Formats: sequence, C-alpha cells, structure tokens
Amino acid sequence: MSVRSHSNRRVFMMQLATATGAALLVQEAAAQAMVSESDPQAAGVGYKADASKVDKAKFPKFAASQNCANCALYQGKAGSAAGGCGLFPGKQVAAKGWCSAWAKKA
Ligand code: SF4
Repeated sequence: MSVRSHSNRRVFMMQLATATGAALLVQEAAAQAMVSESDPQAAGVGYKADASKVDKAKFPKFAASQNCANCALYQGKAGSAAGGCGLFPGKQVAAKGWCSAWAKKA
C-alpha cells in the first residue's frame, strides 16, 4: 500500500466520523421537542418559555433573576438556549423559561 492511499483512507475515515457525529446531533435535536406552555404538565407548574411573562400575582415567589438556566433541574449546557429539565423527560425547556418548580442551582 502506498503512503498516498493510506492517507486518503485516513481522510475518508475522519470524514466518516464527522458525518456520523453530525447525523447523531441532528437526530438528538429532532428527538428533543420543546416543552409547550399548553402541555397539561407544563401548564400545571405554570411553565413559561419566557420568564418575563410569568404571572407574578399567581406566582409571588417568582423573582426576575430566576430562569431555567439557573434552576437546579436544568440539564442544558451553560450558555445554551434550551436544554433538558428533570420535570420533562425527553423534552427541552427554554433557558429563559421558568416554572413554579424552580429551585436554585447549587
Ligand atoms: Fe425550568 Fe427548572 Fe421549571 Fe425545569 S423545573 S421548567 S428547568 S424552572
């Protein structure tokens, strides 16, 4: 085997690995639908995708500094726009969202 064909094979393997990784990312994103505010479970905990829309009269414990991104149940990476939440398995909540189960991240 010549050196050239060996390195071509390496390039091909690297491309294959990248393509597989990208396909997995797309699959993961498609599988993780966003939680809808009208979802009965979400409505039950007063979930809002935009914390600034929280009904403060209904949820007096809400503070403007609280959102999903700084909630203990949020599973998204720091800086992500959305991520998983322990309350909604298999779905994503907005980092800027909020619900009445909010608990301070340790
Ligand atoms: Fe957001 Fe926390 Fe409520 Fe989940 S439990 S929806 S992360 S505030």
